[in-house]
Amino acid sequence: MDFTSERIHEVLKELIKIPSPYFQEQAITEYVYQFMKNTGISTFRQKVAEAQLQDYEGENIIGFLDAGKEKTIMINAHMDTVYPSSDWKTDPYKPYVSGDEMVGLGAADMKGGLAVMLLLAEYLMNQLKEGITPNYNVILLASVDEEGPDSLGARIFLKDKLAKRVDYALVLESGQGLTRGEAAFPSVIHRSLGCYLYLITVTGQSAHAADPEAGANAIDTMGKVIEALKKVELEKSEGFSRPVSNVLWIKGGEKALSTPEKCELLVDFHVTPEENHEKLRQQISETIKALKLSVRTEVDFWRNGKGEPILYPPYDWDFNHPLTEALSKSCRNITGQLGENAPASICVGDFNHFSDAGIPTVILGPDGHHLHAGGEAVNLKDLEDLTAVLADFLLIG
Ligand SMILES: [Zn+2]
Repeated sequence: MDFTSERIHEVLKELIKIPSPYFQEQAITEYVYQFMKNTGISTFRQKVAEAQLQDYEGENIIGFLDAGKEKTIMINAHMDTVYPSSDWKTDPYKPYVSGDEMVGLGAADMKGGLAVMLLLAEYLMNQLKEGITPNYNVILLASVDEEGPDSLGARIFLKDKLAKRVDYALVLESGQGLTRGEAAFPSVIHRSLGCYLYLITVTGQSAHAADPEAGANAIDTMGKVIEALKKVELEKSEGFSRPVSNVLWIKGGEKALSTPEKCELLVDFHVTPEENHEKLRQQISETIKALKLSVRTEVDFWRNGKGEPILYPPYDWDFNHPLTEALSKSCRNITGQLGENAPASICVGDFNHFSDAGIPTVILGPDGHHLHAGGEAVNLKDLEDLTAVLADFLLIG
């Protein structure tokens, strides 16, 4: 197979050089569109916008190879990155090779996977010209706004009729990056923690700051709520790391010398598939009720502009799914390893939404480290091997 390391270096470098923090993905979208189109694969732009985000209009880029087969495989990489963090010691958009890695913003998360997807399109179309068709129809989804709030690109894709054809989703995120380093390439990750977010509101009583007894301080009360939240017991599950909770932000008070009347708190729970979002809300409410506070408290989901709860449901697909077994065999053909027994992803992403739509979803991606931080790097040999694994899976497996 002709996945030379030079070609992978070249494409990955080009991708890193194009800044694409979420909501600023226009330039990379153009690059990916042109690249895919040049390979000869049917290439579409899919508008990504929602009424409540009036100043955002992005585009997913979709390549579709309809080989007239029964099953359709979707391969996904997101095009956006986070914004550069302050600990970058070099220009995050000037990629360079260090040992067997490439360093640059998004190298592992996930322009490495994106480069693989583009080279795969090139390879599949070259094979097609020689009369070799893949064993599946192939959808290549380059999505926007994965790092931004709400996985807008993935969710818009899932509303499209093309998504109904998808039998299996393969996300090229760095497994190592999603598992605190535990799942090295070629781990096939078939399960993930989910994330539920709750907005807690305390409404106290405003009064002159000089006379606190006359009021009920909402911020003081929220302090007690935060302590109590640590006692909420979360369901554990085999193969999953310990579920955790984390306060994300707190808001309350005003500039006047008044006892604060209102305080809001956003709290995140990273949960196993044993957890249910309604049940957990109930549990949080009961924990707060047990404090016997004299003020009004409310527990709601964190909602998007349309009023829908923002949820990243956890999942656990069977490793014995025939397509996962075929993929695992391709891993062995190329790398000598089956990629089995991978721990669950501790992070959430587009993959939670694909799975939630009923699509069996796995993650297979290159080793990488310092994701979302200065010095982010991806393993270059893994990118070569990953391209070869996917080609083997689609054409032979
Ligand atoms: Zn990512």
